Amino acid sequence: MRRAVVLAVIVTVGTALAALGTSAQQAPPAGREGGPGRGGRGPGFPPVSAPEKIAENLYMIPGQGGNTAAFITSAGVVLVDTKLANNGQAILDQVKTVTSKPITHIINTHTHGDHTGSNDFFPAAVEIVTQENTAANMKKMPVFQEEAKKHGLPDRTFKDKMTLLRGNDAIDLYYFGAAHTNGDAFVVFRNLRVMHAGDAFANKGQPLIDANNGGSGIAYPQTLAKAVAGIKNVDTVIPGHSTVMKWQDLVDYAEFNRLFLEHARASLAAGKTAEQAMADLKLPEKFKDYNIAGGRGGPGGNFNVIFTELQKK
Ligand SMILES: [Zn+2]
Repeated sequence: MRRAVVLAVIVTVGTALAALGTSAQQAPPAGREGGPGRGGRGPGFPPVSAPEKIAENLYMIPGQGGNTAAFITSAGVVLVDTKLANNGQAILDQVKTVTSKPITHIINTHTHGDHTGSNDFFPAAVEIVTQENTAANMKKMPVFQEEAKKHGLPDRTFKDKMTLLRGNDAIDLYYFGAAHTNGDAFVVFRNLRVMHAGDAFANKGQPLIDANNGGSGIAYPQTLAKAVAGIKNVDTVIPGHSTVMKWQDLVDYAEFNRLFLEHARASLAAGKTAEQAMADLKLPEKFKDYNIAGGRGGPGGNFNVIFTELQKK
């Protein structure tokens, strides 16, 4: 019985990771998600799209993995996240439609291959910046064991907060604890009042919790609450995997995760299964556009992951 539950958890977590096109410590399989020989355009994955203007000098480039941000500074272009492997040229082509400046920096919001996959396309001189735990996670990824790709690893890291560039170009990087992984950076384009949230806020639905990379369903709501309290003057949020949102959407998402964890604790204490917890989850009206049922992890959703974590305590 216990073994069956554990197996179910492993299977559902695996399915959830595969569904997102990410994998705990693994590059996407060749040929399916932009592997070589397909020009990075595998079936079911849209090509890299045209830049969407978010603010003056700031663009979002969707497609083939996580949302990429391109910020045009006085000296060049700062990219946030580089999608799945083999999308570097497509990202660069899209950037060239809005500026002729070179890429100077890459910030990775976290370790996953759909956010770091095309780092190595860019020259070694491009400075790559991540939270320090993400740097450690990236070093373990099979793709970065290849000598020719090691320049895609971070050159510079931060622990809790760092400001990159200055004046109108200033970018504030924050870390508030574990959530999606143990290295989720919040990237704030200070003077534009815009933030890239990475997969700590991927979309309006159950979050993906990657325990293999230090993600935590118990810490998740707390981490988001700290971000909400600690980051000031942001109006617009670029989520990891969906259309542009407002600050209030992040505030609501933090509340959603708090209610989700509370329900997990209560359901586990009442001896319910993850499936039962999911079936009787009731949320306030404001979460009606959340994609819960179609969320990750099968019928038990994230309750599988959170139960496992709670039972370890
Ligand atoms: Zn991710």
